[in-house]
Amino acid sequence: MAKTTLKKRSWAEPFKIKMVELLKITTPEQRLASIAQAGFNTFLLKSEDVYIDLLTDSGTNAMSDRQWAGLMLGDEAYAGSRNYYNLEKAVKKFYGYKYLIPTHQGRGAENILSKCMIKPGDIIPGNMYFTTTRLHQELAGGIFEDVIIDEAHDSLNPHPFKGNVDLAKVEALIKKHGAKKIPYICVATTVNMAGGQPISIENLTALRTLTKKHGIKIILDMTRVAENAYFIQQREKGYANQSIAAIVHQICSLTDGATMSAKKDALVNIGGFLGINDKTIFEEARNLVVVYEGLHTYGGLAGRDMEAMAIGIEESLHDDHIAARIGQVIYLGEKLQEAGIPIVEPIGGHGIFIDAKKFLPHVPQDNFPAQALAAAIYVDSGVRTMERGIVSAGRKANGENYYPKLELVRLTIPRRVYTQAHMDVIAESIAHVYENRKKIKGLTMIYEPKYLRFFQARFKPLS
Ligand SMILES: *Cc1c(COP(=O)(O)O)cnc(C)c1O
Repeated sequence: MAKTTLKKRSWAEPFKIKMVELLKITTPEQRLASIAQAGFNTFLLKSEDVYIDLLTDSGTNAMSDRQWAGLMLGDEAYAGSRNYYNLEKAVKKFYGYKYLIPTHQGRGAENILSKCMIKPGDIIPGNMYFTTTRLHQELAGGIFEDVIIDEAHDSLNPHPFKGNVDLAKVEALIKKHGAKKIPYICVATTVNMAGGQPISIENLTALRTLTKKHGIKIILDMTRVAENAYFIQQREKGYANQSIAAIVHQICSLTDGATMSAKKDALVNIGGFLGINDKTIFEEARNLVVVYEGLHTYGGLAGRDMEAMAIGIEESLHDDHIAARIGQVIYLGEKLQEAGIPIVEPIGGHGIFIDAKKFLPHVPQDNFPAQALAAAIYVDSGVRTMERGIVSAGRKANGENYYPKLELVRLTIPRRVYTQAHMDVIAESIAHVYENRKKIKGLTMIYEPKYLRFFQARFKPLS
């Protein structure tokens, strides 16, 4: 009998498609008009003018038939909805946090947490900043300090856990300010701004030991915790045979609480929560949620949203789901690498990050290379990406621009939405833009909002 030798077996999506949403195909002339009207900001494009939407993986997930069925089980009581208790059960079972505060999305939880835990002048170390997280810390009077390892700021460093915390940086902060000034360390899983890079269990365990010694809490930004767990399973010694669910549970057990944007890993279109083990903080958060979000058993969500979230949390931890999800991201990343496109390496969990400084070395950072590149990709093919560079980094309290080392264009892949053929089309478009990169000049900013400027800023091309 002939032996078949299959070196590497392909993965495939662990689902089949039951309903489709039609896409509109536009002409280059239409796209040029659309991007000009949007002030060369992909956030200001109309969704219907976009062909493949890689703006974000936030709230763009395709829900399963089980989740859609869950929507019909919404208990829309003002207080004590059945769906709240189902969500509480899921958070306890899969993440292990004792107390739950639902919120309308991640930043709702960040707002409440920051108000409960930060006093003016406090220092909040974090493994790289995230836009809304840092802003809520600052609005509460806190000062963010980046404690991610240096490797994270180098787009080509092959470190397998570029999301790791540099313990020496944390110790230096403790020495300088005293542990009393540091209410908690904010630890993100698969660090978004570093290119979707994971933190290891080993690093988190060492951080736990250090913070325990000083009475400092660890708050997890668990937005992409399942994706982080996949990298631990693939890369960290001793975890190859552990399930994603077991690894996620272990990550959470090393922390004191978490903020969650369920719009990412938890496979819903809206929702979030604050999970916390400390009863005193929980009680204060429960008071505040009524002010900012809604009663503590719905937190700004419909009952049906909480039901979909409870189901999504469980589905997000299936090993075959996460392997296919990240498999698709890696497929696209490798296609881009084959075309010689400079991307952040190793390839991250939720998307591909193009290094715009290397892609457009002739465009200075003050002329927004990543913003200009995102606009050029849209004009080429209708693929919508987003800037993660100087525009996203915003300004310091003293008005100066932050100048991030990484100037990136993010291609974020929505979960369970696009096929491998879509990935091929995206790669071909970016390769085409790369061949014509010399034609891309920079931009100037003509309108700048005060907060989170990347969402609404407007630009015009340099002439
Ligand atoms: C999206 C996100 C948030 C904020 O959550 P929202 O649901 O968008 O409010 C916080 N942290 C990280 C890492 C995120 O990706």
